[in-house]
Amino acid sequence: MAQEDVFKKLVSHCKEYGYVFPSSEIYDGLSAVYDYGQYGVELKNNIKKYWWDSMVLLNDNIVGLDSAIFMHPTIWKASGHVDAFNDPLIDNKDSKKRYRADMLIEEYLLKFEEKIAKEIEKARERFGNAFDEKKFRETNQRVLANQAKIDEVEARYSKAMNSNDLAGLRQIIIDNEIVCPVSGTWNWTDVRQFNLMFATEMGSTAEGSSKVYLRPETAQGIFVNFLNVQKTGRMKIPFGIAQIGKAFRNEIVARQFIFRMREFEQMEMQFFVRPGSELDWFRHWKEVRMRWFRALGFGDDNYRFHDHTKLAHYANAATDIEYKFPFGFKEVEGIHSRTDFDLRQHQEYSGKKMQYFDPEKGESYIPFVVETSIGVDRMFLHIISAALYEEELKKEDGSSDTRVVMRLPSFLAPVKLAVLPLVKKDGLPGIAEKIVHDLKFHFNCQYDDKDSIGRRYRRQDAIGTPYCITIDHQTLEDNTVTIRYRDSMEQERVGINQLTDIIDEKVSINSLLKRL
Ligand code: ATP
Repeated sequence: MAQEDVFKKLVSHCKEYGYVFPSSEIYDGLSAVYDYGQYGVELKNNIKKYWWDSMVLLNDNIVGLDSAIFMHPTIWKASGHVDAFNDPLIDNKDSKKRYRADMLIEEYLLKFEEKIAKEIEKARERFGNAFDEKKFRETNQRVLANQAKIDEVEARYSKAMNSNDLAGLRQIIIDNEIVCPVSGTWNWTDVRQFNLMFATEMGSTAEGSSKVYLRPETAQGIFVNFLNVQKTGRMKIPFGIAQIGKAFRNEIVARQFIFRMREFEQMEMQFFVRPGSELDWFRHWKEVRMRWFRALGFGDDNYRFHDHTKLAHYANAATDIEYKFPFGFKEVEGIHSRTDFDLRQHQEYSGKKMQYFDPEKGESYIPFVVETSIGVDRMFLHIISAALYEEELKKEDGSSDTRVVMRLPSFLAPVKLAVLPLVKKDGLPGIAEKIVHDLKFHFNCQYDDKDSIGRRYRRQDAIGTPYCITIDHQTLEDNTVTIRYRDSMEQERVGINQLTDIIDEKVSINSLLKRL
């Protein structure tokens, strides 16, 4: 199936099964804003718990915070967002579609990278074990030509971005004949800067209102509380502050479902370290975060680092963790070594000392910061894309059937088990209801007695329920039930009194956390 169709199916599956709805749908929606339905909210909460526990529970030097969305407007001046949180915008005059100039160039570069990857793949198949990728990259003419093109465009692109040269960005688009995907022309406007922050008014007009921003990242709430947390928690460097919360960005191009939204949620952790040790900590967090992704079991090769070559002026190292979405490898998390930029700026703008007294060194300094920053919604999209399968099943009579299944890791699944009486009589529903009543204190359970058992299994497969418990006539005799496993579809007979222990062992977050 074409990648585009895979993605369309995913979006409609999310809607049909109560995961994600377009916001304000009865009013035709609101662009790039989404609501999470009855299963979506459970999955989202489980993702957040996995992140939170891996940060705050497993590290005794990381604590949590929940800062307000509204903050003093000077914070955004100090952080640089008022002056520089911009994206370069360009319009195609024929299609009237708007794009980010930087993204047009990056997508153009990606095509050359894909060509190289294809050449390598072909050669690997041809040469088998004897294949030497490094040598091939250095000698194959087609790879060399594509790499030379990437290097040439990247050098111009990085120069233009670093010097804020908007005309230069446009020229790269023109010189490389990068066309609008809709009109197919390169009839482009000039490139303009567009600030991504949403602003609103705080206070009534009688008192005199002031302009405030909806935060575009949660990190600044951590920086301005650095001293509060350090002092009240008697934190010793190195230590971290973790926060989960909403962020808002007036994105120019908001396509690809919940990949790029105007209202979204972030999970950020700022780790405060001694100046000079930040690059060691940067490497440490790269490894830790990659392990967090891989522990989910979706395949190690589906993740990669994308180290930044062009760094923001305040950073001395940065990387993205990318996941292989149906539309290619894309960023899910950013890890940045931000030096002492933010704390120093807040010290200057607020006039308050943002320093830490290091008892071991006997001196005060502004700590350096390594941050890990991941979007909850983007992680949600990653999980759904990795988990959703359409499978062909061979029946005993030789015919085939398909089933749609979400192979969610058990801990993340919204519903852990469904309890299904085989028929709606002979006392079976009563037993099923009692099991739900007992187990609901432990797990999210669902009772379902509508339709044939086969259809009920399919419904649970489609929402990703890992276990189905079926009550049948044998249950009346020996108090046993069957557990049906979502992925293998195998069934096993167990005693009702064993259920809590069996399921608990399988859905507990502990086994996931222990893998980190
Ligand atoms: P991008 O390059 O995709 O715009 P970014 O580099 O601006 O992302 P950061 O500012 O580093 O992103 O934000 C950290 C994380 O927050 C991203 O890795 C992503 O998971 C998430 N994120 C950022 N912008 C959005 C958005 N508009 N919608 C959903 N998630 C987002």
